[in-house]
Amino acid sequence: MKIKALLLLVLLTFLGAPLQAGAQETPPVATEGQDTPAAAPAPTPVPEPLEGPLLTVNVVDVGQGDAIFIQAPDGKNLLIDAGPNDSNRRLLTWLEQHGIKKLDRLLITHGHSDHVGNIKKLLLAVPVDVVLGSGHMHTNHMNLAILELMKAKAIPMKKLVAGDRFSIGEGVEVLVLAPNKDKNLARERNNNNNSVVIKVTFGEMDFLFTGDAERKVEKQMLAEYPADLACEVIKVAHHGSESSSSQAFVEAVSPQVAIVSLATKNAFGHPSLDTLDRYLKRQVKLYRTDQWGSVTVETDGKNLRVLTERAIATDTPAPKPPKRRGPRKKKTTEPVDQPLPKAS
Ligand SMILES: [Zn+2]
Repeated sequence: MKIKALLLLVLLTFLGAPLQAGAQETPPVATEGQDTPAAAPAPTPVPEPLEGPLLTVNVVDVGQGDAIFIQAPDGKNLLIDAGPNDSNRRLLTWLEQHGIKKLDRLLITHGHSDHVGNIKKLLLAVPVDVVLGSGHMHTNHMNLAILELMKAKAIPMKKLVAGDRFSIGEGVEVLVLAPNKDKNLARERNNNNNSVVIKVTFGEMDFLFTGDAERKVEKQMLAEYPADLACEVIKVAHHGSESSSSQAFVEAVSPQVAIVSLATKNAFGHPSLDTLDRYLKRQVKLYRTDQWGSVTVETDGKNLRVLTERAIATDTPAPKPPKRRGPRKKKTTEPVDQPLPKAS
């Protein structure tokens, strides 16, 4: 048995498999040049965990969609969206594996199926104290079923508008950046632009969660909250689509880490490599859930530590890149092998 255990350890080490509680700190892959497979980075040592009270932000790999679980140092939590209906219990399994038996808050950014398709199953499986949202839901069967279930379970819905502030746990503050209070949500043709956008702050670290908000909303936030957009970490809007992450918005946010939540070979052609380039050319560390699996960012309020479910992104077939104008430029990103200091 000892020999078997030793062999397993050697094999895990060779494969760069997690040596620590289901996650390993890994360097992000350079997305540029996906047509040529990126050289597999050598497994990096797992650095010392951050000390003190930690905020954890987990972008759970639910395939094509969003589900982000945030836990404050005092254990209070917030789930942003629940992924698609076909996510094969990935979110519920993730919550079970991490011992999450109750949700203090569930934020529905908007009513599209890749964000709310799994909510009915979630509400049937996990108690939820309160649902937060824009107050506007599509009147389709899926959304009506969610509202009916919330009513049956007596789960209240709290409407959020830009400017609202609340706490999701000790020392963890939220500022709502969209939708604007004057917006007529029912008249918005593109439901992505009804997305609730929030900034979560712990100590000196800011995280931006953008739902599927597109350039129109980005423009509005740039006008109304120019001093509030700078963040260390962003959940990239709309799965890395060209519809979002305008140059001006990326510059204003100026993140250190960007996380894109999407599935391999999704039907929407996400992500846009041009969009990802707008982050990469600013030396942003970019993580994609289709390549790295679930991505966790820990912070003690001063430093960040990024951990990914998979050690290296070699099991994802490279998508065919779109035709480009002009010559390609080689771009790379720095490996994350130590906690990132806050940008000055
Ligand atoms: Zn979406």
